[in-house]
Amino acid sequence: MLPWHDIDFALLDMDGTILDRYFDDYFWEEHVPKRYAMGKKISYEKARRKLLAAYKAEEKTLNWTDVDYWSNRLGLDIVAMKEEIRDQVRIHPGVETFLQFLRDQQKAVILVTNAHPKTVKIKLEQTLLLPYFDTVLCSSDVGLPKEEIGFWREAESVLQFNKARSVLVDDNEDVLLAAHTFGIKHLLHKHHASSRAPKEAAGIFPALDYFTQLLP
Ligand SMILES: [Mg+2]
Repeated sequence: MLPWHDIDFALLDMDGTILDRYFDDYFWEEHVPKRYAMGKKISYEKARRKLLAAYKAEEKTLNWTDVDYWSNRLGLDIVAMKEEIRDQVRIHPGVETFLQFLRDQQKAVILVTNAHPKTVKIKLEQTLLLPYFDTVLCSSDVGLPKEEIGFWREAESVLQFNKARSVLVDDNEDVLLAAHTFGIKHLLHKHHASSRAPKEAAGIFPALDYFTQLLP
């Protein structure tokens, strides 16, 4: 599926790509509204409506994944709440085998994520995936989300990857579009981002259902 002899750099997204997005959907759409409703003494339905609208307004910004922003705004300890349910973080099928393949082939393996560094720490410690990565780059380190071409320009100068010899796998089409405009050669759209959501419709970029499809 990929010409591995032409690829030196594997850039991988975290949530929805190597990890099951169900954790995040559950956390933000159910767990947080429940706790918020209790604190504010309002109904769960009202809390959920209010929060979903608040999330929507921050989509595609750095606030969206900034756990400190949401802790302050909602009056909840978001990091502690993630810690409480960290045992529910799940790795997508075939990911460890794929990461081991990349290591064996001596590719540079880079995590590029919009997730906040505190979230990344919890998830990579929980899943024991950290040792597979040479580098982790969070969009908050860059100051722009991955949906912006400026993120990729900055990432290139920080990480020194060769975009003509790189593959990016991400479950977000807007991110793939920005990376395409920037010039990353190989782009794959991870489908089945959440194990409990309906399968995604075909999009602009080639779909990847499971990482084992990328093994020779
Ligand atoms: Mg993602």
